[in-house]
Amino acid sequence: MASITDRVRQLRAVLPSHVELVAAAKTRTCEQVREAIDAGIRIIGHNYVQEAQLMIESLGRNAATWTMIGHLQRNKVSVAVSLFDSIQSVDSLRLAEAIDRECQSIGRVMPILIEVNAASEPHKSGVIPAEAVDLIRKVARLEFVSVQGLMTLGPQVSNPEQLRPYFRETKKLFDRISREQIPDISMSVLSMGMSDSYWVAIEEDATMIRLGTTIFGPRS
Ligand SMILES: *Cc1c(COP(=O)(O)O)cnc(C)c1O
Repeated sequence: MASITDRVRQLRAVLPSHVELVAAAKTRTCEQVREAIDAGIRIIGHNYVQEAQLMIESLGRNAATWTMIGHLQRNKVSVAVSLFDSIQSVDSLRLAEAIDRECQSIGRVMPILIEVNAASEPHKSGVIPAEAVDLIRKVARLEFVSVQGLMTLGPQVSNPEQLRPYFRETKKLFDRISREQIPDISMSVLSMGMSDSYWVAIEEDATMIRLGTTIFGPRS
């Protein structure tokens, strides 16, 4: 079986150089993530604040760039802003305001992505496309968060090809927001695609993919 090191090298050899690779670390050990970093991974994604905290303490803050990719509860924001270099899962003004407040108190600006619920599914995280521009206009006014782009998961599907329309829709939204020229934001990061869907996402212009299984093997 291929090692984490082999998998990271094989990936980097085939991925277009403009695509940033995030290693999704949920359920992985510090040793596994250390191996991925040693093999060249620069960005580690976490779903859980506490898991991230333990890993950052163990591996060291400067070992990688740490990004929050999971749903962020408002009562965890204070810890999250002290841990993460960016937050990819901002989907409401209330959450953005909470991040803004905590960042103001520690004197930093947090780079964020707006999470889009591309299929407008009820009860799913992410802002629906119809409300995204309005949300971004409001978040753009906050001084201590900086919108850098969009993130999407897409719906649960059996075949990754079924995600293509949602990735395409998210890219269209990304381009539309760019054209709006909203002050104090940038649309430079389009984070979409996971282990089963990253090729489709790259074909639909993702600039960042988030991979767990492809790097670390199946989760037990
Ligand atoms: C787990 C996770 C991933 C990676 O999932 P794999 O299918 O293991 O590649 C990517 N993004 C988010 C938000 C995740 O929670």
